[in-house]
Amino acid sequence: MTDTPIVDMSQLTWTEYRDRLGGGCPVVLPVGAVEQHGPHLPLGTDWMVVQEICREVAVAIGGVAAPPVIYGYKSHLRTGGGDLFPGTTNLSGAALTTVVSEILGEFIRHGARQLLVVNGHYENEWFVREACDLAADAGLGGARQPRIVFLNWWDPGDDGYIATIYPSKEPMRPELQHASWVETSMMLHLFPELVRRDAYPPDELAKYPPYDVFPSNFEWLPPSGAQSAISPSTKEAGRALVEHYVAGIVAAARAEFVIATGLKASEIEAKGGNDV
Ligand code: ZN
Ligand code: MN
Repeated sequence: MTDTPIVDMSQLTWTEYRDRLGGGCPVVLPVGAVEQHGPHLPLGTDWMVVQEICREVAVAIGGVAAPPVIYGYKSHLRTGGGDLFPGTTNLSGAALTTVVSEILGEFIRHGARQLLVVNGHYENEWFVREACDLAADAGLGGARQPRIVFLNWWDPGDDGYIATIYPSKEPMRPELQHASWVETSMMLHLFPELVRRDAYPPDELAKYPPYDVFPSNFEWLPPSGAQSAISPSTKEAGRALVEHYVAGIVAAARAEFVIATGLKASEIEAKGGNDV
């Protein structure tokens, strides 16, 4: 054992986990997806990125990072390419809501009272929000009432800051960042060995009409499955983005939770920059 506290729930024993929860430790749940991310990023991009973000957040707030919900709500054409691509593996909204609300219910049964749910796949948002609402409303009440904080990892982004690093004069639109500058940069920072730099498709901005049709019209989609420019992506931008979003999520947790762990503040600070 090292003296670095384990942050992954999967690596804790049940007794260690029990003791952490007994100390008021927040539980951080990442929710992702298995989805095409162009010819240059892996199918696990959404769950892998949100898992790393949640680990960094958990380190900063003395929390436990739960194993991610890997599969997500179905990819849609205008935000993730839809189901045209092999590998995109969709759950229904009802299934995702059930899975997430039941997992949160289990953490609450274990004694967790501070739960941070971080979504990493655009299409999941309202189904995960519904799951949080159901879990918080599960009739516990009183002193056992859990507090659940929900956000997408990109929500705390400061547009003014991001504009200083975004390599375009256009406003940055998260729904058009699928497999593009944001995600490619973050993957270059977090998982450089998994980015196929020789397979970048041509930069192409998706031009969708402001509505959907069912079944989807795949002619609307750039053939690569990415939605906007990839070539300006850099590891440095990826690092800056991850740090920026993590700081915003940590601020949300600090605003809403009582952070009272066994760690001294100086120990938490010292671990802030560690790889986990
Ligand atoms: Zn993605
Ligand atoms: Mn996605």
